[in-house]
Amino acid sequence: MSKKLESLKDLYIHELKDIYSAEKQITKALPKLIKAVNSKELKAGFQEHLEQTKKQITRLDTIFARLSENSSGPKCKGMEGLLEEGKDFSKEEAAPAVLDAGLIVGAQKVEHYEIAAYGSLCTFAGLLGYQEDLDLLKQSIEEEEATDKKLTQLSETLNQDAEEMVTTGSKKSGSRK
Ligand code: FE
Ligand code: FE
Repeated sequence: MSKKLESLKDLYIHELKDIYSAEKQITKALPKLIKAVNSKELKAGFQEHLEQTKKQITRLDTIFARLSENSSGPKCKGMEGLLEEGKDFSKEEAAPAVLDAGLIVGAQKVEHYEIAAYGSLCTFAGLLGYQEDLDLLKQSIEEEEATDKKLTQLSETLNQDAEEMVTTGSKKSGSRK
């Protein structure tokens, strides 16, 4: 157990360490998921988000430096679990488009975790009057939200492809139920 949490600032730092651990884990997991992906577009999307994730870590480094705090803390177990599920899913025997659609589900769960974390951090930074932190955190949450939206769009296309495969080549894409 780390030291007692007595103030909003303590909680802010606690949560910063949590998302820092989460982001680090994501940069380790994404390259393996990129290999598992079939769709070129999804691969490119994951690759782009890997680069964004590295920038997000740099932003957090800036915040920790400003607060004169260490970035290391307990491993984010929430992200560990989400990434473990994604990894397990990537090993399933699945039709290519179905596998991709499932990997998107996992990725969106990850993005939603991050959006929740950065949302709270933005609130805390605002309350604490840390304007520079808030500017950085806002950039990151905007990237996570944009990624989530992009994944939804990709999922619509890929799921359509997956459905067309089962309807044995018939190009009836309007018959989704
Ligand atoms: Fe992130
Ligand atoms: Fe993300």
